[in-house]
Amino acid sequence: MSLLARVHSTESCGTLDGPGIRYIVFLQGCLMRCLYCHNRDTWDLNTGELRSVEDMLPEILSYKAFMKGSGGGVTCSGGEPLLQIPFLIEFFERLKQEGIHTCLDTNGYVRQYNDQLDRLMASTDMVMLDLKAIDDEVHKPLTKISNRYALDFARYLVRMQKRIWIRYVVVPGYTDSDEGAHLMGRFLADDLQGKVEKIDLLPYHELGSHKWAYFNDTFGLEGVKPPPRERLDAIADILRSYDITVGPY
Ligand code: SF4
Repeated sequence: MSLLARVHSTESCGTLDGPGIRYIVFLQGCLMRCLYCHNRDTWDLNTGELRSVEDMLPEILSYKAFMKGSGGGVTCSGGEPLLQIPFLIEFFERLKQEGIHTCLDTNGYVRQYNDQLDRLMASTDMVMLDLKAIDDEVHKPLTKISNRYALDFARYLVRMQKRIWIRYVVVPGYTDSDEGAHLMGRFLADDLQGKVEKIDLLPYHELGSHKWAYFNDTFGLEGVKPPPRERLDAIADILRSYDITVGPY
């Protein structure tokens, strides 16, 4: 009998969450509390639509030609997909049987290393890992948890020889400093031995901030404006000085 996942939503032809055209499954539930979260509605661990692999597969397969023709596949995002590892194993192993590329979009908040995680990695073609800040004194107020879990997970991915893209949200007043960019550059170059394919700079934006009010919550970055282009350019230049490839932004 198929396992059931808590699914927040799906998107059939995404182009932002991994290479090529992708079918994206946003899983419900997240334990981080990022001040800038534009998916506030994905936090609750107990909501979402219960869906099985068999239930989702026919629709996914109907896009297979688009995925194949564009070098795309399926991405599991969230919320935080690694909160539902048993489902992901079944899902990704089934997709690999169908010859479909698999990508995991995660915040890396992993607290247990075990056979299950290794098994999931065996059917995961690539990982998009959000590294929110290398300085924990920035990370903790920004996400409400320590970054040591995400940094350890990044090192684990290198040991597992996974294809890795890093995502770095540039938030004015938090992660837009030269110092933060140097820390990121050094972490990627030294701790991860330069074994990331690229880093994407994601300028902070206010889209999705309205969702917080729905949950009687206060958006923590009210009034903060997106970073100017010159700030992104400066951060990109610093990262390139560590021989890191920066994606278009
Ligand atoms: S990890 Fe993603 S979903 Fe979770 S709080 Fe942060 S931005 Fe939101």
